[in-house]
Amino acid sequence: MRGHCLCGEVRYAASGPAGDMWYCHCASCARASGVGFGTWIEATGVHWEAGTHRRVRIAGAGPLVRSFCANCASQLPAERRDGSAALLPAGGLDDVGGLRPAWHAHVAGRGSWMPAMASLPCHPGSRHAASTPAVSRLEPAAPLAVSSTVTGHCLCGAVRYEIGARLYAMRACHCSRCRRRSGSSYLVALACAASGLTFLSGAASIRRWQLPEAARYLVTFCGECGASVPSVIGDVAFITAGSLDADPGVRTRCHIYFGSRAGWIDAEDDLPHFDERPPHDFRW
Ligand SMILES: [Zn+2]
Ligand SMILES: [Zn+2]
Ligand SMILES: [Zn+2]
Repeated sequence: MRGHCLCGEVRYAASGPAGDMWYCHCASCARASGVGFGTWIEATGVHWEAGTHRRVRIAGAGPLVRSFCANCASQLPAERRDGSAALLPAGGLDDVGGLRPAWHAHVAGRGSWMPAMASLPCHPGSRHAASTPAVSRLEPAAPLAVSSTVTGHCLCGAVRYEIGARLYAMRACHCSRCRRRSGSSYLVALACAASGLTFLSGAASIRRWQLPEAARYLVTFCGECGASVPSVIGDVAFITAGSLDADPGVRTRCHIYFGSRAGWIDAEDDLPHFDERPPHDFRW
């Protein structure tokens, strides 16, 4: 299996037979992916084919050494600290063959506002630490009253922000760019007036990368950890849901660019699914 980051500088291939594929809802995968969960495939090792000088390794306290592209912030393969395996970000791969996710890990940490996900065995922690695996479809919780102030931060905590404006337009974007950037299944983002966004700390760590062929595809991220932080395009701020600290009170309204979805996606929820953008009169 081969993969690369969104800007194309970092390229890699997996060696050995592909192992399991699963979703991880731990706090680190939530922020590192930007979407709220990681979608991983275990492999025995990874061969870096190009762009290793762009690869930034983050050795946090967890069992993984994660990495991201310093240029475009795409998630790159992680390695188990004990060297026993590499974890490939499924969204970064060109093709996963017939692999499908088999379980949800750390489901206790899943954001209550995330879109519904497939019925698979759910483990409160890691699969091996599970006591009684349950099989259930993961549904979003009923919306709370919208709180007046919403906060969020990047994976390392350097960049912190606050939003004091109405949040809207929460959607799951299945385009190939969002998938490759997150390394996961899609990207969940929401919007607010740019004037309502305040960075509380870490402004000096913020980096931006503009997709050359798309005037409005901007990736804004923490240069220390690679995690997404809000992007400002014109007078609108776009916030990746994985960076939120708590329930924002709004819920995913639709799936966009669903025609480009990953082969393993199960999104048979009641939301509208648009092959590309929603119609202009779509009520957010
Ligand atoms: Zn890159
Ligand atoms: Zn995780
Ligand atoms: Zn950070």
